[in-house]
Amino acid sequence: MKKRIFEITCPHCGHSFFIARDTYLIKEKKSVEYDRLRQGIYFYHQCQNCHQLFELQTPLLYRDSELGFSLLLSDHAPTSPSSPMLWVKDTSQFKDAFSILDRSLDLKKTLPLLSYARKNFGDQARIESYDPDRQILWIEENGNRQGLKCPEDLQTSD
Ligand SMILES: [Zn+2]
Repeated sequence: MKKRIFEITCPHCGHSFFIARDTYLIKEKKSVEYDRLRQGIYFYHQCQNCHQLFELQTPLLYRDSELGFSLLLSDHAPTSPSSPMLWVKDTSQFKDAFSILDRSLDLKKTLPLLSYARKNFGDQARIESYDPDRQILWIEENGNRQGLKCPEDLQTSD
């Protein structure tokens, strides 16, 4: 794992501080980082000055060698990556892509269903789980759970 120091300004109170953040993470199932990524709270930071929560967007390369994907969060396109990687520009795109790829689901098939869920259930809709036997994508939105029946299996075939 690699860390770098970033200067951050709190969007709520303007407090400026330095923080060490990982720029490269390899999936480790038992790590705190993986747990925070799964919960969708990896980027959250609480300001020491005003105690408000906000998201830190610092560059991050996440690699899952077990499922075989790499996800890059960066303002800039990757320069000749050594292996294929998915490039996203902000934390919400990162969280969506992570929640799909980490469950071995197909990104192109699942993303439209997630946008459909947000339009119909609410902006906070996120994937809770996928039931491959019944082809149901379970969506959680503010504590409510709703199932989306999928027209085809969402799992990636390999
Ligand atoms: Zn603050």
